[in-house]
Amino acid sequence: MAIREILTYPDEALRRHARAVADPTGEEVRQLVQDLADTMYDAPGVGLAAPQIGVRLRVAVTDTRWREEGGSRGLKVWINPEISWREGEAIFEEGCLSVPGIYEDVKRAASITAGWYDMEGHHHTADFEDFPAVALQHEFDHLDGRLFIDLLPPIKQKLLKKRLQKQKKQMMQSSPS
Ligand SMILES: [Zn+2]
Repeated sequence: MAIREILTYPDEALRRHARAVADPTGEEVRQLVQDLADTMYDAPGVGLAAPQIGVRLRVAVTDTRWREEGGSRGLKVWINPEISWREGEAIFEEGCLSVPGIYEDVKRAASITAGWYDMEGHHHTADFEDFPAVALQHEFDHLDGRLFIDLLPPIKQKLLKKRLQKQKKQMMQSSPS
């Protein structure tokens, strides 16, 4: 079990384009998925992408049910995911472990078709709607260096980014190390 440090805005590593995984069945991916899951459940969060722990690979994990009342863990692993189709509009309040303390309504597609590999190297395609569709769009955006705050109106972005930078400076000044 390894809980990794979650990088936060404005860390440049969050802005990089992640590379495709060459072997979804490999040991490197197995270890990465374990670390992502441990870190996500510990945070706690409903999704985490490899760039958020500084790993530049196209891998994300989600579990959109476990924090609901009576919900049990159902970890989903997404390797080299792609969205091939988007339709409609959904607005959900989003937050992000890499953008602490900020929760904003974000407009995304309401339905998507996604393709991905699992850890056995099998390819899957499926349709998703509403919250699961939104959660996947959020996580897959991380693989392209995109954060949910990038999708907000420009004026709002400017204010939030200023606030986040100030917050980060204060955190660094008050930390003993
Ligand atoms: Zn996020």
